[in-house]
Amino acid sequence: MKNRELILVVDDSSTIRERMKSILIENGYDVILRNDGQAGVMAALEYSPDLIIMDLNMPGMNGLEASAILKRYPQTSLIPLAVFTDDNKTENKVAFFEAGVEDFIVKDSDEAEVLARVAGLLRWGRNRNMIIDEKSKLGTLIDILSDLVLIVNREGLLVFYNRIAALRFRLIPELINQISIKDVLPDSKHVRELCDHIENGREATGMEIEINNGGIDIRHYIVDISRVRIDMEEDVGGAIVFRDITAEKEAEKLKSEFYSMMAHEMRTPISVVLGYTQLILEGKTGELTDLQEEFLRGVEDKGKALKKLVNDFLEVSRFENKFVRLHNVDFNVAELVSNTVTGIKLLAQNKNITLEYENNPARLVINADKDKLEQVIINLVENAIKYTDEGGTVSVRCGRLDEGVCVAIEDNGIGMSPEELEIIFERFKRLDNAEKKKIKGTGLGLAIVKEIIDAHNGRIEVESIEGKGSSFSLWIPGARDSEIVQSDVPVEIEA
Ligand code: ADP
Repeated sequence: MKNRELILVVDDSSTIRERMKSILIENGYDVILRNDGQAGVMAALEYSPDLIIMDLNMPGMNGLEASAILKRYPQTSLIPLAVFTDDNKTENKVAFFEAGVEDFIVKDSDEAEVLARVAGLLRWGRNRNMIIDEKSKLGTLIDILSDLVLIVNREGLLVFYNRIAALRFRLIPELINQISIKDVLPDSKHVRELCDHIENGREATGMEIEINNGGIDIRHYIVDISRVRIDMEEDVGGAIVFRDITAEKEAEKLKSEFYSMMAHEMRTPISVVLGYTQLILEGKTGELTDLQEEFLRGVEDKGKALKKLVNDFLEVSRFENKFVRLHNVDFNVAELVSNTVTGIKLLAQNKNITLEYENNPARLVINADKDKLEQVIINLVENAIKYTDEGGTVSVRCGRLDEGVCVAIEDNGIGMSPEELEIIFERFKRLDNAEKKKIKGTGLGLAIVKEIIDAHNGRIEVESIEGKGSSFSLWIPGARDSEIVQSDVPVEIEA
C-alpha cells in the first residue's frame, strides 16, 4: 500500500536532510525539508504535516525553541514531533520530553531504526486523531441531545455539561471544575437526594425530581445517574441525565383534574338516585310488590357500588393533585384499631371467618390523621375478609416498632402470586385471584392506602403465598410514650 503521509524534516545540515529525504521518499512518504527552526515552524503551520523531525542545534531559532512554539499553537500542538540527537544522554532526552516532544531519533541510527521510529510516531498520531475525532463526534452527539447531561467528579465538581444543560442551568465554561452540583441546581429535597446519590457513588434510574427556579420555572425531570470514569487519573464520578417531562406532567395533571371534576359532578345525581330509591323502599310512595322490591334492591346495590367507586376515585385524585391535607392529632392507635376491628366483626361473622385482634401495649400514642388511618385499617381488614374463603382466619396485630407504630393484618385466604404482588398498589389493578373468584372491587382501595401511608412518611409491606394467605404490615412514624394529649387544634401537614 502506498503511503502518502507528509513528513517535515528540519535540519541545518544538507547531508542529513538529503539522507532523510532519500530514506523517506524511498519508503513512500512525502517530505518537506527546511534548514532552520523558524522556517520549520512556518512550514508546519502552512502544510500541517503528519510528523515533524527537528534538529536541535541550528543557527537562529534552535530545535527546542521551535518545538516549544509548535507545541503551543493549537494548529500544530497535536502533530507528533521527534528531535534529532547526536548522543543518547538521559539528561538531554528528559529536556526533550519536558518540552512536549514525543520521541527522539539518534542521528547515526541505521535506516531500519529511523523507519521504525517514523512508523511508530505516525501510528501514534493516527490513533490520537482517531480518538479526537471520536471524542468530537460524541461531543456533538451529546450536544444535540434534548436530554440535559451533567458530569461531575467524585467531589461533586462539574466537569462536563451539554448545550441544553448550559441553557437551562446557566452554565459557562469558566465554571468547569469550579462549581459543585449543589450550586448548579436550586436547593430542594429532591436535589439533596440526588446529590446524596452522587456523593455516595450510587447509581439510580428513573428518579423523578422537580426543579424549581425561584417559582418562575418549575420543571419535572426523570433523572438517571451512572458512574463514569472521567479520565485515566481521575476516580469515578457521576453522569447525570435529566429527561424533561414537564409537558407530560402538565397533560397528566389536566387529564386527572378533568376526571376528578367528572367524578365530582357524578356524586350529586348518584345521591339523588339512591335517595329516591331508599324512599320508595321505605314504602313512602306506597306498597311495593316483592318483584318491585327485589328490583329496587338491585338498583340500590349498584348505586352504592357506583358511589363507592366515585368516592374512591376522588380520594385518589385528591392525593395525586396534592389537594390532601393531613389533620394530625395525638391519639391512641391501639384503641382506634380495636374499635375499627369491632366495627367490622359482623362482616367476618357473615362469612364465618374468625377475626382475631391483639395489641401490645394497650396504649400507643401516635401523631397522625386519625380518620385516614381508620380508612387504611378498614380497607386492609375488609380486603382480608373479602379475599379469604369461608371458615378462614384474619388476625390483626398492633404494636410499637422503633419510633413508630406497626399494624399487621394477616389472613389465610387466596393469596397472590409474586407477579401480582408487584402491582397491587397501582390504581385500578384488580388481580387474577379476585377475577377468578368473581370477588367485586374497584382496584382503588390499596392505591388509597399507599397514598395515605406515604403522606405519613410511613411504609407498607406485603407478603403473600398463592393459596395460603397474605400479610400486610404498615408502619407509621411518630409514636410517643407520653400520655394521650388531645390537640385542640388539628396540626395541618401538607401531603
Ligand atoms: P379491590 O377493590 O379490588 O379490592 P384493592 O386496591 O383493595 O381493590 O386491591 C387490589 C387487588 O389486590 C384486589 O383486586 C385483589 O386482587 C388483591 N388483594 C388485596 N388484598 C388482598 C388479600 N388480602 N389477599 C389476596 N389478594 C388481595
